[in-house]
Amino acid sequence: MSDSIQQHIGALGIVDVHEHHLPEITSCRQVNLLQLFQQSYAGWTQARPYPLPSESRAGDPMLAAAGPTTWEALAPYLENSGSSTFVRNLVRGVTELYGQGGVLTRGNWEALDAAVREHHGRPGWCGEVLRRAGIERVITDSYSDPLLDALEAFGNNYNSVLRINAFACGWHPESRDHNENSAHALLARLGCKPESFDDYLAALEKLVDSLASRHQVALKNALAYDRDLSFDEPDEPSARRAWGQVSPSPAERKAFGDLVVDRLCRLAGERDVPVQMHLGTALIRGSHPLNAAGLVERHPRTRFLLMHLAYPWSRELLAMAFVYRNIWLDLTWSLLLSPSHFKLALHEAIELLPDESRLMIGGDNWHVEETYATMRLARRLIGEVLAEKIADGYFGLDDARRLAGKILKENAAAFFGLSR
Ligand SMILES: [Zn+2]
Repeated sequence: MSDSIQQHIGALGIVDVHEHHLPEITSCRQVNLLQLFQQSYAGWTQARPYPLPSESRAGDPMLAAAGPTTWEALAPYLENSGSSTFVRNLVRGVTELYGQGGVLTRGNWEALDAAVREHHGRPGWCGEVLRRAGIERVITDSYSDPLLDALEAFGNNYNSVLRINAFACGWHPESRDHNENSAHALLARLGCKPESFDDYLAALEKLVDSLASRHQVALKNALAYDRDLSFDEPDEPSARRAWGQVSPSPAERKAFGDLVVDRLCRLAGERDVPVQMHLGTALIRGSHPLNAAGLVERHPRTRFLLMHLAYPWSRELLAMAFVYRNIWLDLTWSLLLSPSHFKLALHEAIELLPDESRLMIGGDNWHVEETYATMRLARRLIGEVLAEKIADGYFGLDDARRLAGKILKENAAAFFGLSR
């Protein structure tokens, strides 16, 4: 029975609802083995790519140029952080794609590095890897350019989402979000040059109305990397006081961001555009999912796709998804943080969620090798959970098959209107 559900899942196509495929990284033709580690979650074991409030940084270490691959450069990942799922997942993916028997050692790294460089030099290699992973469609959050038309950049099986962080930090032309994006620079590309706070609010409407022209299918709120997720009821006088200041007070910044996020969620609801939101980890003192409950509650017409099982607060998130029926769950990344917790949480999600439309999956990766590995892992873990459910007599093989098809593909296609 467990072979049967695993085989079924192995053959399903995937609509991947979240990647960070960026043209300058993912489509780069000069990629080596070290880059795959640096520009992946394995890289996060060495350097967290976002600063805490107490820290500063010169630039995003993931986007920095990588040097040539050496054993000395690989060893910190493999020998110091070799127990991390991030590292295990990438090693498995790279060795499956390029041979070398499932291990990466001092004895075979040069052969693997040569294979990575040779394959990335071939046009069409990235597409081939996605095909081998069974991925039919990709929705990417290309945060280095929130206005990216991914269909133009990557091909017609891609869409992008619009990351809204810069707009929630756009009180001054010089203000930037943690990705160094400026709202004013982005709006200038749409022909908007807001001179007042009211101009700025009007420009937000134009921003949302122009999504489809760039094949963008959702808004993405990744503000958990910039601030806390307590998006309170808009306080317009305080938000207006932030406008035009280089350095507004913390309360004015928060009010500005609260109002912009609230406005964007309302505009999205009116246009039936989904809103993805990062929950959990990040600036961890403020990323608890219940902080975002007020926002979800104020916008019952807005469809929220809440991400990462809000790790480590998956039970709180599942309870929210039971109470608020405008919540869907993107399981992305939670399986890479902890496969063991993912399985436990997926069991509970299956039992608790009000209907079968709520779960979707993504890779959340920069290079296709990691995407390939993550989707292999996702298929295996989902298959194991469904096999356990069948073995327990919770439901039958037909139920498990139906649910697997929905999690991997059908829910995402319907949620994002991809067949329209
Ligand atoms: Zn992500």
